[in-house]
Amino acid sequence: MSFSVPQQRHLVTELPGPRSRELLERRRRAVSRGAGTLADIFMDHGSGAILVDVDGNRLIDLGCGIGVTTIGHAHPDVAAAASAQASKLTHTLFTVTPYENYVRVAEKLAEITPGDFEKRSILVNSGAEAVENAVKIARKYTGRRAIASLDHAFHGRTNLTMAMTYRPWPERAGMGPFPGELYSVPSSYPFKDGLSGPDAAARTIDYIVTHIGASELAALFVEPIQGDGGVVIPAEGYFEALAAFCADHGILFVADEIQAGIARTGAWYSIEHFGVVPDLVTTAKGIAGGFPLAAVTGRAEVMDAVQPGGIGGTFGGNPVSTAAALATFEVIERDGLIAEAQRVERAFAARIGDWAARFPVVGEVRGRGAMWGAELVIPGTRTPNPGALKAVIAHAAANGVIVLDAGSWDSVLRFLPSVVISEELVDDAASVIEEELARQSV
Ligand SMILES: *Cc1c(COP(=O)(O)O)cnc(C)c1O
Repeated sequence: MSFSVPQQRHLVTELPGPRSRELLERRRRAVSRGAGTLADIFMDHGSGAILVDVDGNRLIDLGCGIGVTTIGHAHPDVAAAASAQASKLTHTLFTVTPYENYVRVAEKLAEITPGDFEKRSILVNSGAEAVENAVKIARKYTGRRAIASLDHAFHGRTNLTMAMTYRPWPERAGMGPFPGELYSVPSSYPFKDGLSGPDAAARTIDYIVTHIGASELAALFVEPIQGDGGVVIPAEGYFEALAAFCADHGILFVADEIQAGIARTGAWYSIEHFGVVPDLVTTAKGIAGGFPLAAVTGRAEVMDAVQPGGIGGTFGGNPVSTAAALATFEVIERDGLIAEAQRVERAFAARIGDWAARFPVVGEVRGRGAMWGAELVIPGTRTPNPGALKAVIAHAAANGVIVLDAGSWDSVLRFLPSVVISEELVDDAASVIEEELARQSV
């Protein structure tokens, strides 16, 4: 693999640098503070796992803009495909006059999503829009209204998906009212509840039966590995039991793979790790190398239950975004990036897998592929430690390492690096983070 920017951290100013600080001032006067930022460093370009800011500093990116640039920043093949498409045709609206790219993306999604049954897809603009459409499709197909999502879930920021998202703050506070018939049900969170998969599933099912009614429920939405919820990996057997319950009661099992899908966890889709075949799958973030595109894919009879005109949207499946997605699929297959994600898993396990033993502020480290979380606690307890998380993020950013926050208690340090990140960069970034973990451990 070759990169247009050296894959090394290199700082030439303090962070944020003078040019970033200037832009920050302009930003304050022009942009709503509601669009909060994690690190006030303005970026100029990037390649692979490195971002270069407007002052010329090279930073290690362990965030990928929340898991989007999985194949690396500004991938040359994606750039070439998008730019060729942009000078050919940029818009017709697929539902007015169709074009081949849209069909090709849908064909590819049918091939890579789990399940060897006939499938159909719809393409939209954002993850939240995909989830909303999955809700509409599930209700239409089942004739039922109730929708369940798991505790600690993140499904988006539109009015409907805000209500399916767990945290009141900052995602929801003060912005209701929300639509009805949406239920949050207990999940499996081994670090917190200590339950086995079957026991956690029994608790989820009992809640559904006693609060909603199995025959009333159209669909259960799950993130196979919860992203914003804190890289939560459910106990073994949890999803198998839930999927069996759903199948028995005519409830659609929907995997929201918007964050964990498209090669990130060392499989095309993270639900593959759990031996469950979902009825519907939502895809977005990493699907198009940084271009906006999202999809709902699922069983043909479910997806085709909707009347023509019942789902759609002006920009959905845009020609340029679909060209970028086709190039992204090609790069993943040609360069073996699913195996690269497995390499990143080994690199993280080897480098940070012992953090809980070495740093009392770390309660647990967990991850799959290029998706990792470290649960930060008050040393000697299991109490969430949001203060330590803030300090770690600030220290990392000031030293040229971009990391993410997560968790319902703002206490999970989250890493979503590109799957092309080198062992050297993982080591360098971990060393920077460890300086603050040591300080927070006393
Ligand atoms: C990011 C995310 C969404 C929302 O996607 P947007 O493109 O921001 O609307 C939904 N579900 C999951 C699991 C996500 O990570």
